[in-house]
Parts: sequence; C-alpha cells; structure tokens
Amino acid sequence: MSYEMSNILFEKAKTLMPGGVNSPVRAFKSVGTNPIFIKKGFGSHIEDVDGNTYIDYVLSWGPLILGHCNPRIVNALKNQLESGTSFGACTEIEIKLAEKIKEAVPSVEIIRMVNSGTEATMSAIRLARGYTKRNIIVKFEGCYHGHSDSLLIKAGSGALTFGTPDSKGVTSEIAKNTIIARYNDSDLIVEIFKKYGEDIAAVIVEPIAGNMGTVPPKEGFLKTLRKVTESYGSLLIFDEVMTGFRVSYTCAQGLYNINPDITTFGKIIGGGLPVGAYGGREDIMRMISPDGPVYQAGTLSGNPLAMVAGYETLNVLSEDPSIYDELDKKADRLCMGLYESMRQNGINVKINRVGTMMCMFFTEGNVYDFETATKSNTDLFAKYFKAMLKRGIYLPPSQYETFFLSTAHTNEDIDRTIEASFEAAREISA
Ligand code: PLP
Repeated sequence: MSYEMSNILFEKAKTLMPGGVNSPVRAFKSVGTNPIFIKKGFGSHIEDVDGNTYIDYVLSWGPLILGHCNPRIVNALKNQLESGTSFGACTEIEIKLAEKIKEAVPSVEIIRMVNSGTEATMSAIRLARGYTKRNIIVKFEGCYHGHSDSLLIKAGSGALTFGTPDSKGVTSEIAKNTIIARYNDSDLIVEIFKKYGEDIAAVIVEPIAGNMGTVPPKEGFLKTLRKVTESYGSLLIFDEVMTGFRVSYTCAQGLYNINPDITTFGKIIGGGLPVGAYGGREDIMRMISPDGPVYQAGTLSGNPLAMVAGYETLNVLSEDPSIYDELDKKADRLCMGLYESMRQNGINVKINRVGTMMCMFFTEGNVYDFETATKSNTDLFAKYFKAMLKRGIYLPPSQYETFFLSTAHTNEDIDRTIEASFEAAREISA
C-alpha cells in the first residue's frame, strides 16, 4: 500500500494547522504513523487519496450508524440543499427531530439543539448549576464529555479529590469545582455525596463509557448514581453523545432502565453533520433562555441540513425493529473472531462490547475503569493498528477509542476483517 499522497498532504497540513489536524486524535500520534487523508466514503468503506480502500470501523467516531452515503440520507440532504442551508430562524424540521427524539427517550420532555457534543455537555452543566444554584460537578476518570473547561479535568492525586486541569488554559479555580470519581465504583460515589452532597449540582456520566475504550457500567452502578443524586437534590446527566441511538433506539437509558434528569446527544442525531442537543425534565429545561435565566444560543443551532440528516437517520432506525438485533449479531461475530485471532496467537486481549460499541484492550485482566483500561499494552495496539491498516482495515487510531459498526457492514466485511486480524496477530506476535 502506498501512502505517498497522504504523506504529501500531511506535510502541507502541518504548515497550516496545529499538528496538521483539526482534532488531535486524527494525527495518528498514539499509533506512531502518519494519518491517511480520506477522499470518499461508501457504505462500510472509505477510500484515501492514494486510492487505498478500507473497511471503516471508526465511522466518523460513531455518527454513521447507517454507513457512508446512505441513499436515504443523501436524498434528504439534496432536497434540503436546494431549499437553503441555514436561516438562523425557526424551521419545521427542528420540531420533527425534537419530536422523534422525545418519542424514543421519555426522560426528554424538552430539548434544545446545539452544534456539537461539547456544546451540549457544556450547556447541560451550566443548566444544572443554574437550576440547583450549586457549583460542584462530579465526573468520572476516563469519561470524556468534550473540551469545555469544567469537563477537561483529570483525577487529582487520588479518587475523592477535586481534579486538576487536564489542559493548559484551564484554571485551577475551575478545576476546584469538579470532583473526579472512579467509574463503576458505587461505594466511592456514596462517600463523595456524604461529604459534598449538598454542594453538588450534577453528576455527569457516560452511561457506557466509550472514551477509555469501551467500558460498560457494572450492575447497580447507574442505579446508585440515580439514587444518590435524587436524595441530595443533585441532577443526573447522562452523556449519550456516543451511546444515543447507538446501543439501542431507546439509548443507554432505555437499555439500563434509568431516567436521568438531563441527557446530552450528538453524533447519530446529526446523521454525520455537526450537531448536539441536550434535553430533559421540563421544569429544568424551562430554565433555558428565552423561557428562563440560563443563557445559551447558537447561530447555526438547529441547522436544517443537520436536522434533516438526523431526522432521516432516526426514521431509518425506527422503521425496522430488527435493526439493532442485526447489528448486535454482526458485532458479536466480529468480536468472537477478533478474540480468536489473538488467542490462537498467544496474545492477551480483553474485548469489551455493548451492542456496536466495542474495544480490544491488549491486557490480561478485566477492564472496568480508567486504571484497568490503562494497563493495556499501547505499543502492541499501535503495531496491530498498523498491521490492520495495511490490510485495508481502518480501526480507531488509539487504544482508548471505541470501534463501531454500521448497518452497511456485511458478514463478508466482518469475515475479511477477522482474516486480516489473524494475519496481523501472527505478524505482531512474531
Ligand atoms: N461526549 C461524549 C461521550 C463523546 O464521545 C464526545 C466526543 O467524542 C463528546 C461528548 C464531545 O462531542 P464533540 O466532539 O461533538 O464536541
């Protein structure tokens, strides 16, 4: 495989953009190679500027549950394009998408559209603080909620501590209002609430973590979050930017039967266009301007192209009740094959999966939080990533990211991927 044109473009991109990219993970730094530049996508595949094709398991980091260029989405977008791309004014399609989400997710009584997942979580946090008149936010180590200041905080010297900034430019004053807890540690969260409960505005959580690789919630963990937040008058925010309409049509909250106070969305509800949304209980959501005193706005919010793509995606997903079962079967077939490819070549791997969110951790033990996730052998992952890439399989370029599947992936795609994984495993274990 030649990457000549990608390499040329990367050199040029580096002269124009930080690291040559518009989002850090795209630089492929953690897998120690240059990025490929994508020319087009079709179904389960992408093609790069050198003419190499790949089966795509990144799918734009999750939004493309129907694969690339699904004809229904393309047609809906074409129709909208011819009527205008943005008005910054009210449109009917905003109502249609809001209704569609509300129908699927009963905890969402009122919803506000924004332009990214970051914007959704940032606004949800402001809302929670405005509603409760409290300052402290609890987040979990290894969960990512976008890059707003309050949420770009890493664990302090131990759990049950206030966090420290995870990026230059985030002040320690801001970090002081974020407590970092351990994912799946129910006892710790109870302890945190005993100590600080009266001052906690909200707990924000990925109900299935997808940003330290895939880490499902342990039995009872989400229930504990619901219980403690309720008893202390704090809000529970489910960040379903990744899980929303990915793990089931009722999202993670439907899967685990927990009603959060606020839910954030992104990715799939924009069908591959820039989008975000946050919604929840009516009395809370009515705090948002112009109904209430919590300010939040956006020039392109509710953009008709994004609304149309999201609405059509949800239409497709809701029309066929077997869609999620089919996806689940394909994901199971893939994970079994990937696991076997490693086992038969003496490589320790732990595969976590919920529906079509999955991750291969190159480690021996179970992965249930940030600490256990970071026991993974990232060097081995990098070798595996490169070995797969040259065999035409595009995996997320980092150990700590989630793989996705789409309805466009066929059993042949999956079998080809497994075959490539056997070859890659032989190569990296040699
Ligand atoms: N929340 C979660 C769970 C995410 O996975 C992401 C992005 O991957 C975000 C928030 C931020 O979304 P965006 O990248 O659209 O700002």
